[in-house]
Amino acid sequence: MATCTGCALLCDDIEAIVENNRIKETRNACRRGAARMKGCVNRLVPSIDQKPTDIESSIRKTVEIIKNARSPMLFGLDNSTCEAQAKGIRLAKKLNAVIDDTSSFCQGLLIERILQKKLRTCSLDDIRNKADVLVYWGSDAQDSQPRHLSRFSYFPRGESRQRGYEEDRKAIAIDVRESNTAKICKGHFYRIPLKGDREFILALIEALSGKVPAYDTKKMLELAGILKKAEFGAVFVGIGLTYSIKEDFDILTALAEKLPNFNIMPMVGHYNMRGFNEALFKETGFVNRVKLEPKAVHDNKYSIMESLIRKNTDAIIVVGSDPMISLPRPVLTYLASIPVICIDPCISMTSKIAAVTIPCAATCMESGGTAIRMDGKVISLSKIITSEYMPDEEIMDRLMEAI
Ligand code: SF4
Repeated sequence: MATCTGCALLCDDIEAIVENNRIKETRNACRRGAARMKGCVNRLVPSIDQKPTDIESSIRKTVEIIKNARSPMLFGLDNSTCEAQAKGIRLAKKLNAVIDDTSSFCQGLLIERILQKKLRTCSLDDIRNKADVLVYWGSDAQDSQPRHLSRFSYFPRGESRQRGYEEDRKAIAIDVRESNTAKICKGHFYRIPLKGDREFILALIEALSGKVPAYDTKKMLELAGILKKAEFGAVFVGIGLTYSIKEDFDILTALAEKLPNFNIMPMVGHYNMRGFNEALFKETGFVNRVKLEPKAVHDNKYSIMESLIRKNTDAIIVVGSDPMISLPRPVLTYLASIPVICIDPCISMTSKIAAVTIPCAATCMESGGTAIRMDGKVISLSKIITSEYMPDEEIMDRLMEAI
């Protein structure tokens, strides 16, 4: 069996049919996963200043750029194995560099609260076996983690939920639009206005406290009634909710206190973002936005966004990430003006502006290791086909040696 790295569900029940050292077909994967497992559409080649070269020259040029940088940054590693992440953190330490990842502008602070044990959580296996009420909040799992409902939450039979979704489970969607997930939740879709999550949470806390909420009273009391009756519930927090409450996780903690039978789970996208967050948390006590100099300092000014806005970074190594498609335009102008080193299996928008590109093996097809699923479970990833490309873990080693 192979493991899919298409999202942080890390489905490890994938059958891969290999022919002539290529993955010809997959079974059990969703469409997104099947496409991922077929590999890159356009493979990255080693280059310097957008001119093709060989790997050794790309590595030498990277070392030259990084040694001359006053304030380098290492960004990404969410699509790398735990082994590569550990080496990336060591590399950043050696460089006294800033280290940050995509969680800096999505689920990082929520994961930090969970690692600090300030929010109750559980495993996906617990959800499959015990959960009777599932709340998808600002999360369209059907599109982002396509097998979430079928493998773990709504559709499967579980030890204490033998009658599955027909009788034993209720799925609820709270969102600004009727997403594909909301359509599955039948009568339990609660539409909220854009950025209206905060008011919705406050009204729900009132309803759960036995008060009459000022906000959509009838529906709010109905929702509070369902949540109060839950024996084992889960709130799946999507980026719709985290963006809307703007890092004010105290309000989510206040709601969680009113729901003692519920667990909170961040709906992580990148397959090993949680792995990166856990590794950096273990090393520094923070999940992102850290300068390793040599004592770790955490500050918002070390987020990729702030570092680029303030023009504090003068060279950046991007590993398995594509900030050119996720950051706002004014920030991108500065990013494109500094030396970017892009380590990735595939061509990306970031590789197109990079001063140096270093292609690496695609994890779980061409290299193995371990990764941490969105619920914190360690999953092993095995190599399926042989490849001439170095795993990103080995590239981190090479950079460490040369620096
Ligand atoms: S749900 Fe995610 S991990 Fe599972 S097969 Fe689809 S893309 Fe891959």
